[in-house]
Amino acid sequence: MYPGPMEISARKRTIPVRIGGVTMGGGAPIVVQSMTNTDTADVASTVAQVAALARAGSELVRVTVDRAEAAAGVPLIRERLDAMGADVPLIGDFHYNGHTLLADYPACAEALAKYRINPGNVGFKDKRDKQFSQIIEIALRHDKPVRIGVNWGSLDQDLLTRLMDENAASASPKDARAVMHEAIVQSALLSAERAQELGMGADKIVLSAKVSAVQDLIAVYAMLAARSDLALHLGLTEAGMGSKGIVASSAALSVLLQQGIGDTIRISLTPEPNGDRTLEVKVAQELLQSMGFRAFVPLVAACPGCGRTTSTTFQELARDIQDFIRDQMPEWQRRYPGVENLNVAVMGCIVNGPGESKHADIGISLPGTGESPAAPVFVDGKKVTTLRGPGASAEFKQMVLDYIER
Ligand code: SF4
Repeated sequence: MYPGPMEISARKRTIPVRIGGVTMGGGAPIVVQSMTNTDTADVASTVAQVAALARAGSELVRVTVDRAEAAAGVPLIRERLDAMGADVPLIGDFHYNGHTLLADYPACAEALAKYRINPGNVGFKDKRDKQFSQIIEIALRHDKPVRIGVNWGSLDQDLLTRLMDENAASASPKDARAVMHEAIVQSALLSAERAQELGMGADKIVLSAKVSAVQDLIAVYAMLAARSDLALHLGLTEAGMGSKGIVASSAALSVLLQQGIGDTIRISLTPEPNGDRTLEVKVAQELLQSMGFRAFVPLVAACPGCGRTTSTTFQELARDIQDFIRDQMPEWQRRYPGVENLNVAVMGCIVNGPGESKHADIGISLPGTGESPAAPVFVDGKKVTTLRGPGASAEFKQMVLDYIER
């Protein structure tokens, strides 16, 4: 029997957390976030990159706060962004010395909308609890939420060693990988418990537990979601460059999202040297949109092309229209509510062209090899005109604009 489409599980109802003006969890739309790779002490470069990420659609942006100069730069970055009208909340990423930086730079603590704490390196051994507590106390004083962000690469080694020893001594020892998963999950949950003992509400805590292998990530987050109602930040860490990073992140996150797990996502891509940092935001948006969770930009459907196409005209037109539309967002969302749900089709020949174009809101079927040089255009499922000649692409682009404006 045909099993039917895979069901999307109901979203797990986590405890909502307010981060600046953005709500995460509790059934709120899944939030897209990203991180800068500029030196935060370089205020001008960081402002430019945060603004570019926000323009691309990042709803939260994390910045590294690793030393005094970076902490001193944060309030200046916030001020300049506010002056530009960019109200995207900033998250501070702290490792090792967050407790001293936040204590020494109260303006930084205030300018940030959330602090990321890595429980694996917040301090060493006997100092760990004290330094973790200091960050939580500062967060409470400034009324800020925290993300307790465990990472496979900086896992609390004392906890791991203890669980490994217990496992070795047990009558039925588990696989080493399962112990590692348990250590990651426990590191997150025990740290969250400690934060709550110190007075932090569950509505101020987000958890993450990032690993770099797809199956491990799925296993770890399934365990976390089963054992906690805290909001969850999803991301495959060290996903890698180019198509490898995109595919691995999409594979891992889509399985979890399909299971109803995840309140915010970050796609961690290693950028090409001088590459476009906003790519990770576009991939995150496209992942959520292609799965039907959110809509951000009108989508352009285009066929892959084959031996029936003799030119690259239709690929160029598809790219041209997709780039043009993306560049207009989010301004168009304000001017044309619902524009993000629009579907445009640009097809390369008669085989699937008219059919696909009819299913789109507006579509064009360009002529393939041996076909008469005519390009029928379909609007709302009906053929409205046929374009001919070298100006067909420009005319179709204008028709898309007219359709959106209508
Ligand atoms: Fe090839 Fe035509 Fe199919 Fe495009 S629609 S892939 S050009 S057969």
